[in-house]
Amino acid sequence: MSYDLHTHSVLSDGTQSVEELVAEIADCGLTGFSLTDHDTTAGWHSAQKHAEQWGLDFLPGMEISCAIGPLSVHLLSYGHQQNDSVLNEHITQARSSRRTRAQRIVQKLSETYPITWEDVLAQASPGATIGRPHIADALVNANIIRTRSEAFSGLLADHSAYYVPYRAVHPVEAVTMVKAAGGVPIMAHPRARIRGQVASAELIEQMIEAGLNGLEIYHRDNNEEDRNWLKKLAQKYDLIITGSSDYHGAGKPNRLAENTTPTQTVERIKEIIRQNHQKNTTPQHTQTI
Ligand code: AMP
Ligand code: FE
Ligand code: FE
Ligand code: ZN
Repeated sequence: MSYDLHTHSVLSDGTQSVEELVAEIADCGLTGFSLTDHDTTAGWHSAQKHAEQWGLDFLPGMEISCAIGPLSVHLLSYGHQQNDSVLNEHITQARSSRRTRAQRIVQKLSETYPITWEDVLAQASPGATIGRPHIADALVNANIIRTRSEAFSGLLADHSAYYVPYRAVHPVEAVTMVKAAGGVPIMAHPRARIRGQVASAELIEQMIEAGLNGLEIYHRDNNEEDRNWLKKLAQKYDLIITGSSDYHGAGKPNRLAENTTPTQTVERIKEIIRQNHQKNTTPQHTQTI
């Protein structure tokens, strides 16, 4: 009785359509799942529909890219209102800024390698959130490298001469936005050292102050020592602890359901979503004279 609360489809940098992804999830024997594409909710409708067909429970999710200078933070939002204008405005801008940044990376690469922006677009679904994985796929397709991972440890790595950063929201502001939209913010892979610099205790505490509800502790990118450190933090602030695969299909080594979250924890997340939505729809008390 468990859920995989962190998965990606072709609507961001996963390699499967939502339909294919949900079929594979059903095959795994999971109770339910969340689809958490980067900076988009475009897959929610299809995920809900296919979940129903397979008798799975679907928790709507999204992974928001945040940063403070060179520090990258990913924030998972569960169950926020899909029509929230502030959050929607933000993710529209985020997708556009990612695209401009990807174009600049490709421009730099094209000075040395035979790769064009059209090659990259050919690797992404229409309207998908563009990321470095799509550039990696174009490099693989052009036989410049062999795998996505090779790109991330070489040409597309943070320290590469071809790397271009992009502007992303401050993680504390992202938590505030998710809360205002009625969602449950949970920090994704909080100590993923493999990706570079990680958030400090001070930053995580600031996020908790802003309303962070949980930490994705069981994720392959958090090592044992960091997991223990995170568990203490979770205990101190009564935070929700989740476990997920961060599945990207064939795009990453992560396997579906390699980490999972118990149904009981998902019920706690759903309860907070219900409370948040109730608060957001309760009319403000107006004073009558
Ligand atoms: P970007 O969002 O453009 O900065 O690219 C980072 C994204 O690439 C992350 O969200 C991961 O999903 C993906 N990624 C990071 N490392 C790898 C890797 N080694 N192989 C495949 N995908 C990766
Ligand atoms: Fe990704
Ligand atoms: Fe992530
Ligand atoms: Zn992810």
